[in-house]
Amino acid sequence: MEEYGLELTNNSKASWAFSLPRSATCVGATELCRSVCYGNGVRYQTAGQKAKRQRNLRTVELLLSRGGPELLAQNLLSLIDQARPADWLAASVTGKPTLTPWSIRLHDVGDFHKISYVNAWWIAAQQRSQCSFWFYTRSFANNDLFDAMTELASLANCRGWLSIDSDNFESGLLAYARRPDVWKLALLQEAEETLSEDLLPALDKYTSAKQVVSFPVHRGRYHAPPIKHRNLFTCPAVLGAYKLEPDARKRRPCQACAFCLPAASTTTSVEVQS
Ligand code: SF4
Repeated sequence: MEEYGLELTNNSKASWAFSLPRSATCVGATELCRSVCYGNGVRYQTAGQKAKRQRNLRTVELLLSRGGPELLAQNLLSLIDQARPADWLAASVTGKPTLTPWSIRLHDVGDFHKISYVNAWWIAAQQRSQCSFWFYTRSFANNDLFDAMTELASLANCRGWLSIDSDNFESGLLAYARRPDVWKLALLQEAEETLSEDLLPALDKYTSAKQVVSFPVHRGRYHAPPIKHRNLFTCPAVLGAYKLEPDARKRRPCQACAFCLPAASTTTSVEVQS
């Protein structure tokens, strides 16, 4: 009998994350991102991790087919609540901020593959305004899907990044140009010799200083030499400035750096309900 259920992953870089199988959901994957995806890594390829991603997708599809985005959103809400920091209750009593932010990265593996699924996250994220959400996506070629993701990325507690590389930067920049007020850009950065020579000049047309987060292609401790360019902000975790943090009660690299998170998400102030 097939199992159902939604489950988060807790990882030592981003903290809480929600994952789906790449094969079924990475509808805009490029050859480069497929080849260097960290989902290829040993930790993501265990039978348990693969089964979890398949179970998440099976459950997403079932809930969407039975009750649309609203039913899926109800179930996502309980998942989001599980990601509350451990000191949430104490913070709500004392009125102090939590030690770590309440945050969820959507898709440490996987991507948005259909509009109804995006809409479910929009409903859920709107109802959990104290939780910060962020995601990187390559699903921007389909205009309707892009418009739905734009709605999600427009929420104050959500930040969306269009993920580009030498293979897809033209379409990524076209999508970005439609809503530069909402979207940010993330570059999967190859070594300078192999990067398309048109990419950086194109970025210059659309962005300004330190606006584009850049991830030098990396495997383990090796990474491509970071390109120094005024519009790029190279991820400090890739460069080793932040160590992976195994303890969930402490800030993980992305929570400490917070460049990719929505503004004002370094801690969470708990509003006490009267
Ligand atoms: S730039 Fe900062 S927030 Fe973004 S992935 Fe790197 S460490 Fe995480």
